[in-house]
Amino acid sequence: MKVVIVGNGPGGVELAKNLSGEFEVAVIEREELPHYSKPMLSHYIAGFLPEEKLFPLPSDWYEKRGIDLHLGTSAVLIDRAKRVLVTSKGAFPYDALVLATGARAREPAFQGKEHMLTLRTFGDARRIKEKLEEEGEMVILGGGFIALELAGNVAKAGYKVKLVHRKRNLLRLDEELSERIREELEGIGVEFHLETNVLSASENGLNTDRGHIPGRLKVCAFGIVPNKELAVRSGIHAGRGILIDDRFRTSAEDVYAIGDCAEYNGIICGTAKAATEHAKVLANLLRGVEDRYDFNFRSTVFKFADMNIALIGRTQGEGKWLDEETKVFYEDGKAVGAVVLGNVRRAFRLENAIREGLP
Ligand code: FAD
Repeated sequence: MKVVIVGNGPGGVELAKNLSGEFEVAVIEREELPHYSKPMLSHYIAGFLPEEKLFPLPSDWYEKRGIDLHLGTSAVLIDRAKRVLVTSKGAFPYDALVLATGARAREPAFQGKEHMLTLRTFGDARRIKEKLEEEGEMVILGGGFIALELAGNVAKAGYKVKLVHRKRNLLRLDEELSERIREELEGIGVEFHLETNVLSASENGLNTDRGHIPGRLKVCAFGIVPNKELAVRSGIHAGRGILIDDRFRTSAEDVYAIGDCAEYNGIICGTAKAATEHAKVLANLLRGVEDRYDFNFRSTVFKFADMNIALIGRTQGEGKWLDEETKVFYEDGKAVGAVVLGNVRRAFRLENAIREGLP
């Protein structure tokens, strides 16, 4: 059986690894670069990680596993009748086609967006790093994990950082948890501008509804746009992302979608952890082994400067502190999620306990 995977991000790579040896696997990737770690990009920007450490796989990784890798190759159309993927470098017949095309950074809609940078790729990170070294300071837009990771690392490296967010709450968490994150980052020098709407950007700063915020390097880190164009062009149903069922099937026969490009029941997972978990489950399904990914109970760990934070399951609604570092969320008296600050090992234990029905 021939499995063709579009995308060499964590989803595509994990799937190729899982299926190699059992299936004929080809990976199609439009970037010329080998696989790199997006979660480590802000560490690289801050100067904590040398460039070569962003590329975790040895150069013979694919060859050793018999995976047919095609870098610098764009997938342009799926010929569903012929079961062929048409690319910029020829056609690839498939028995199963997996779209792991990821997402791109959302761009701002306000005036002056040409003065803003976004962060998604290695190329973006390199541009931001160069400019940061020139300017010595950065303004970041956003209150999600990418913005907070970037702010934490860059401030920890000694640069001046301002974080502008239109809401009061960070990571969509409640006031108390947002405050804990804010205190941690303020402690290393991040200057917060919350509940602040950007009206326009210029070369020298941002005009907001709370006044002018100076800064020549401005980075937007406020959301992602799933790469669904290949699917849409090929007549596959899409909403915000490529629509899938709970077995990662798209509306086209034998075409699947995983990772940041996929949308299940209104959910776009948006993390590397989810993309690799999707890949593991889909690998089982393709080899005929029953498996399921629980879209409603996801967990992730992030690190903002020196603070680890684990988000487990549902992290909104009625919450109760178990201790100074652990807040558990309840629905109808039953634990449905938690936020753990600091101790990641405890977070794993708690995740299992909640899955098993912690009262
Ligand atoms: P991607 O990694 O986006 O890979 C998709 C690949 O498909 C890309 O290489 C793209 O070039 C290729 N592609 C797209 N269209 C085509 C086409 N038509 N033809 C050929 N190739 C194509 N997640 C975490 O879990 N923890 C973190 O701490 C974390 N930090 C992050 C920090 C930053 C700065 C960023 C940008 C992301 C971070 N993430 C983190 C999110 C994580 O990186 C993504 O969720 C993850 O990369 C998604 O994996 P993916 O395989 O679905 O897609």
